[in-house]
Amino acid sequence: MNDNELVDDCLFCKIIRGEIPSYTVFENDDVKAFLDISQVTKGHTLLVPKKHLTNIFDYSQADAQRFLQYIPEVAQAIKKSDPEIKGLNIFVNNGEVAGQVVMHSHIHLVPRYGDKEAVS
Ligand code: ADP
Repeated sequence: MNDNELVDDCLFCKIIRGEIPSYTVFENDDVKAFLDISQVTKGHTLLVPKKHLTNIFDYSQADAQRFLQYIPEVAQAIKKSDPEIKGLNIFVNNGEVAGQVVMHSHIHLVPRYGDKEAVS
């Protein structure tokens, strides 16, 4: 598969192509970050490589360097978006038995508000 080849029946490839709407938080040639449709807390974001990788087991060293480098930048952007954000959970489900439902690699970033935890 070419580096930016997308997969027809993949939900997140469709979001990357703009065929399914999403609320973009961050985007460049390598990755797209958009709000999760089911917000654990307000600002729950998914960071997705534009290359169709299934999960962490699909990453080469070069893929890891290319795509995972954006985690701190997106985390900072989320934190700066709301002064009430006090912390952030970052997690990844890899494989069906680990809870992965969408088989296009994605990193969950879930803002934490402490006492003021909110979902909207
Ligand atoms: P889980 O559903 O157990 O979190 P994943 O780690 O595979 O499994 O996460 C898939 C995520 O994709 C879910 O949090 C889900 O809410 C989100 N999602 C599904 N469809 C969309 C969509 N159209 N736009 C944004 N997020 C979506």
